[in-house]
Amino acid sequence: MTGEERQERSSLVFSTSVRPPRLSAEQYVKGVLENSRSVLAQAITLVESNSPQHMKLAQDVLKQLLPHTGRSIRVGITGVPGAGKSTFIEALGTMLCERGHRVAVLAVDPSSPVTRGSILGDKTRMEQLSRNPRAFIRPSATGGTLGGVNRKTRETILLCEAAGFDVILVETVGVGQSETTVRSMVDFFLLMMLTGGGDELQGIKKGVIEIADALLINKADGENKQRAMVAKAEYNRVLHYLQPATAGWQTQAYTCSALTGEGIAEIWGVVENFRDELTRSGGLAARRQAQSRDWLMSMTEDYLRSRFFGHSGVASKLPEVEAAVLRGELSATAAAQLLIETYEQKRDESEWGE
Ligand code: GDP
Repeated sequence: MTGEERQERSSLVFSTSVRPPRLSAEQYVKGVLENSRSVLAQAITLVESNSPQHMKLAQDVLKQLLPHTGRSIRVGITGVPGAGKSTFIEALGTMLCERGHRVAVLAVDPSSPVTRGSILGDKTRMEQLSRNPRAFIRPSATGGTLGGVNRKTRETILLCEAAGFDVILVETVGVGQSETTVRSMVDFFLLMMLTGGGDELQGIKKGVIEIADALLINKADGENKQRAMVAKAEYNRVLHYLQPATAGWQTQAYTCSALTGEGIAEIWGVVENFRDELTRSGGLAARRQAQSRDWLMSMTEDYLRSRFFGHSGVASKLPEVEAAVLRGELSATAAAQLLIETYEQKRDESEWGE
């Protein structure tokens, strides 16, 4: 078991002991479909648990809700801290609620379990939106590995869709692998940027521009407006030479001011165009299928890995085998074979899920 996995497990022990599920699968399903906010919140807490009984119940609930999922536009939003993500989501979400949409805001926050500091999605950051009855803001599941947060967010998206939210905004701060993780669960991926300083200074990692469906230069107001227009033109020149993140869609740069609201309706128009064009071409359905396939494979890999390293024979043999490899007495291949033979000979079913 890796350090990360160990951390994930221990954090789960905590969540299991604190919040036992109170409802039956049918009560969760009924409450979510009736858009009961309190049942939705409890159902999310259930999918956030990793205790074996909770996971079983959660999967039962999800299975029943699956026919009611998928009917939303899923939008990922990333950008460095201070780019204006929460100000933007507040403005965009409020506009969408006024237009009759129902908006769920989720966050993928792989912040250190040590600080347990949820940088994202806390209610104080989107005060107006959090009071809107058509909006639902869920702080991110913290204190776990990115893999764990990933699963929880995907399942939370499904729960929100079943509860009738037709716009899902998934926010993440641009650290670690979180952008790629969010990219893998959304239809449209928006990168928020600031003018000046260049990518390096903005802390935008190489490759993030390549996975974006739109670049949005925020704070295009006051004295900054002119600079934002220049940056937009520069980015558009660069984008012209890059392979688009989505086949059949040209990623472009746009400007907005989350503070004044200028450009917010326009960027939403871009998202709607994207959805319409890719629905027509079949690209959207293909993307969701590819995401489901990848998700199946990565869940299977995770499951096998924890079964393997959680196996008592493997766990007890690992230190000596590892030491032999480090001393140069055993090749890595032979060592791996030895561990796999141990696993296959002494299968210990009771190990899994403890
Ligand atoms: P986040 O860390 O990406 O969520 O950024 P915030 O939304 O918290 O914004 C960081 C700071 O930038 C706050 O002080 C905001 O008031 C300010 N800000 C956000 N959007 C704009 C904008 O469009 N124009 C200006 N002038 N300031 C903005």
